[in-house]
Amino acid sequence: MTHRSARLVQLPAAHAVGLAKYTDYPANSSRSRVLAFSCLVHYDKGRLARRRIDLMERIESPYPDGCRSAVSLSFDDGCGSQLNFALPILNDRELLSTFYIAARDSAPGYEGWADILRPWKEVAGQGHEIGNHTRSHICSRAFGNSREGRYLETMTLRDIEADVLEAERRLNEVVGQAQRTFCYPCYQDYVGEGLTRQTYVPLIAKHFIAARGRGEYANYPLTCSMSYLWSYPVEHMSGSAMIQLIERSRSLGQWLVLALHGIDVGSLAVAKEDFLEVCDFLARNRSDIWIAPVIDVARRIVDWRASLAPPIQQI
Ligand SMILES: [Zn+2]
Repeated sequence: MTHRSARLVQLPAAHAVGLAKYTDYPANSSRSRVLAFSCLVHYDKGRLARRRIDLMERIESPYPDGCRSAVSLSFDDGCGSQLNFALPILNDRELLSTFYIAARDSAPGYEGWADILRPWKEVAGQGHEIGNHTRSHICSRAFGNSREGRYLETMTLRDIEADVLEAERRLNEVVGQAQRTFCYPCYQDYVGEGLTRQTYVPLIAKHFIAARGRGEYANYPLTCSMSYLWSYPVEHMSGSAMIQLIERSRSLGQWLVLALHGIDVGSLAVAKEDFLEVCDFLARNRSDIWIAPVIDVARRIVDWRASLAPPIQQI
């Protein structure tokens, strides 16, 4: 880490200004140093990417500061309990996380999409990532028993891309983070059905550095698909069961992404005491486990892969 920080100082001033703007972190804060450097490649893909490879030596580990593994806590759908219960617990322990918010046109109690997104601007200001969860959060019609309405089965690739990009426009306008990751609603990555069914993963890969799907396993940094990262849905799971997952991923050097919804509230909730148990465990083990938003781990892994010889193609 020392050599990368030293090399950052050698960058032209214009780039340093760009980096500070890009990362949304104070330019000289300790946690921003590696991130700021790693963001070079995304700030100006192409010219800066080539320069970065020239400047950088091999990044020895996909995880910083001697950590053996990474954990990202990710929360879907902007449930009220995330703001009321999860955030104070996370902030008390300085555990930065990712919140995937659908930039919906309307919701009960809100005046429109800007009103829905507004509370998350402050959350972003606390250092958490606010990720893209589409505009309309459309899933398979097989969840219900009606063929009326708009579902993945009736959408085209063009439809889903427009929905995702409108969400991105709204998030940029209200939340303002320069880059974010994507989360597939209901973990589903396709449109159409039968002969017309197609994955929309390539569209997401075009627009995002990384995207979270669902899997039965944690991610190996060398081999995981950045455009469909695996995550564990942990609803109703006990604290000790979640800690077991974390310990297993630590022993294997993996990046574990936990997918959470409500805390104590809602059908996909984790109980507050179980959530607390996990957060306390993570806080106690942060010298060994890198706990960071999906975007931060993705950037680090992308740069680590690029520094390998030969570089790994990012997909
Ligand atoms: Zn969702």
